[in-house]
Amino acid sequence: MRRYEVIVIGSGLAGLTCAWELVRRRHRVLVLERESVIGGRTSSWEENGMLVESGFHRMIGYYRALPRLLESVGVSPNDIFYWEREIDILKDRQTQATFGIAPVYAPLRFLRGLAANNDLIGPMGKLSLLPFFIRGLYDSLVRPHELDRLSVLDYARQCGVSSEAVTWLVKPLTTGIFFLPIERFSAYVFFGLMRPAVPRFYRMQIGAFLGGMTEVMMRPIAEAIERHGGEVQTGVCADQLLVEHGRVSGVIVRGEPIRAKETVVATSLGAAKRLLAPHFSSRPSFASLFALPTMPAVTVQLEMDQPSRPHDRTTFAPETVLSSFAEQSRTTFRHVPGRLSIIIGDPERWIKASGEAILSQVYADASTIGLPLSGHVRQSRVISHPEDFHSLAPGYDHLRPGQQTDVPGLTLAGDYTRQPYFATMEGAVLSGQRAAAIVARRFDGG
Ligand SMILES: Cc1cc2nc3c(=O)[nH]c(=O)nc-3n(C[C@H](O)[C@H](O)[C@H](O)COP(=O)(O)OP(=O)(O)OC[C@H]3O[C@@H](n4cnc5c(N)ncnc54)[C@H](O)[C@@H]3O)c2cc1C
Repeated sequence: MRRYEVIVIGSGLAGLTCAWELVRRRHRVLVLERESVIGGRTSSWEENGMLVESGFHRMIGYYRALPRLLESVGVSPNDIFYWEREIDILKDRQTQATFGIAPVYAPLRFLRGLAANNDLIGPMGKLSLLPFFIRGLYDSLVRPHELDRLSVLDYARQCGVSSEAVTWLVKPLTTGIFFLPIERFSAYVFFGLMRPAVPRFYRMQIGAFLGGMTEVMMRPIAEAIERHGGEVQTGVCADQLLVEHGRVSGVIVRGEPIRAKETVVATSLGAAKRLLAPHFSSRPSFASLFALPTMPAVTVQLEMDQPSRPHDRTTFAPETVLSSFAEQSRTTFRHVPGRLSIIIGDPERWIKASGEAILSQVYADASTIGLPLSGHVRQSRVISHPEDFHSLAPGYDHLRPGQQTDVPGLTLAGDYTRQPYFATMEGAVLSGQRAAAIVARRFDGG
């Protein structure tokens, strides 16, 4: 029988961060990943001749833990990210706006974006956003629970934001980022995500991956873990937790126990519930975790014979199903002439739809905003995440569990666990660091 000090279930950013922090402290760690590639929601792989990814991702310039993690494993963020300083918002074939997002790195483009684009949002519309952002950031600090009872749309209306500003700026920042429609997106999550940006506004820019995420980010982390004596096994599903005398003492894989002093469940929320439910569903300390609902995500990826846009740039089309998208043939997937990655808005509506139905809506909406897809798509994939996210709708944030549990031998990690960056790469990294600190303290007898 194999024995380890720590088993980490899941090789997403949370699991690999946790494992990395523990192997650096000289613990013997085994990471188990049920899929054949590492990375979870930040993964990329080849599928019948097409390189696909879990969904297009952006590293936000104000993240701190993720770049430090990368540097600690020998990866320079500037080598794996292409920095974008503008975003596009598309209304129809004729109307398109470009906004600067990097007030310090590209101040002129930032100011030009604010002053121009008046055919999309007039000056009064832009001004109407000011009290919304100031009040929202303040409320997220002083009355977070009240704010978490409101949707972004309700809050924007309370603050008198013009309807054009709601549609063309607030919607992209809600549905375009976390898929949920603005009327179901928690105002607390919206401003909470923005809060860490305020003291670090000077870092603002967004990083597009220069290569598949498994290849350029996750594999180097896994290799660093292995260089420090850890093991990362793919294609191995932890079927159950091994619970003996009220203590988690490892996992069961294909009927065989693998034992460890400490086990970290670093899966997404849906998978965590499945692992924990047989043992802890009636334990009061897990009640909020089981009450926290999941929400889906759906992405569409198209390989084409030409680029769909003149730049590889994060783009939003808030009145279409293409809530956010990016051409990637000059950045992430440089081996093909055209490569579009799309995040589908309102995924709860689409998660059960057939791939054909989703693609046909994408093609119809793409033509309204002038994306030249017709006749140019070589291959397509619909990649769905049915229950990977915790719900970011109002009323649920207080249910997110901490990483520490009251079960001996069991710690949680994952973007749904409590940390200030919600369901982001930065949040996953922070959760992994916190889980590692808890486990390390237990070994130290703390
Ligand atoms: C389409 C999309 C776009 C996104 N865009 C952004 C973005 O632009 N910026 C940003 O910061 N974040 C973004 N995110 C969010 C970000 O990807 C996640 O917050 C983060 O990657 C979550 O990491 P995690 O380790 O918590 O979970 P996951 O990455 O989900 O990792 C969990 C792992 O556990 C494995 N697992 C589950 N059950 C078992 C089991 N029983 N045994 C073994 N292994 C198991 C899974 O296979 C998975 O690999 C996006 C996510 C998606 C899906």
